[in-house]
Amino acid sequence: MTTMDQAVELLRTVIRQEDEAQQLIWTSTDTAEMDRRVAEVNKHFGGGLLSEVARPRTLRDDHLQRGQKQLRVLGPRLLFKVERYDTRGLGPVFRAYVSSHLKDYTTYAASLLVADQGEGPRIVSQYNLCWTCEGSGKAGGKTCPDCGGAGWLRVGGLDVGDLRQLGEPVEVRKIQPPSDSKHLADYEAR
Ligand SMILES: [Zn+2]
Repeated sequence: MTTMDQAVELLRTVIRQEDEAQQLIWTSTDTAEMDRRVAEVNKHFGGGLLSEVARPRTLRDDHLQRGQKQLRVLGPRLLFKVERYDTRGLGPVFRAYVSSHLKDYTTYAASLLVADQGEGPRIVSQYNLCWTCEGSGKAGGKTCPDCGGAGWLRVGGLDVGDLRQLGEPVEVRKIQPPSDSKHLADYEAR
């Protein structure tokens, strides 16, 4: 059974490999090497989900100049906290709160779910923060129409439903606080 330490290690590995792949993609024209690195990252994904890090299908003539611009704004995701939920169907599910791939983006952007479907722990599902309500579930004093109050929207991978259905976490590992005050309140609450 996957432990919190193993889930955190997996997430750190994926974040590092995604950043390395991104650096390679934007500083090289070797598409075979890019594909190899992206495939290495995707080995850690399951449930039909793939990493957001991918290369352009065809490289433009100005690929390396574009790359210089991209690398000014792209950076490794930040890992804020990981919660463990014990579910009936999937066993332990770890919910990681991470930032986006944009440098200087220091607050919640995505939730990555780690579970073991029989081949070892993988990132099996991704939910992104709902931008309409910024994760609060409320817009204009009413239930947010876009996320139905969940605050998060599924992007791909396993459908575990509304993330609120996971219930209460049985273990929480705080790694670093987000900068946004709303998300900081969530971070500190549990
Ligand atoms: Zn919403």
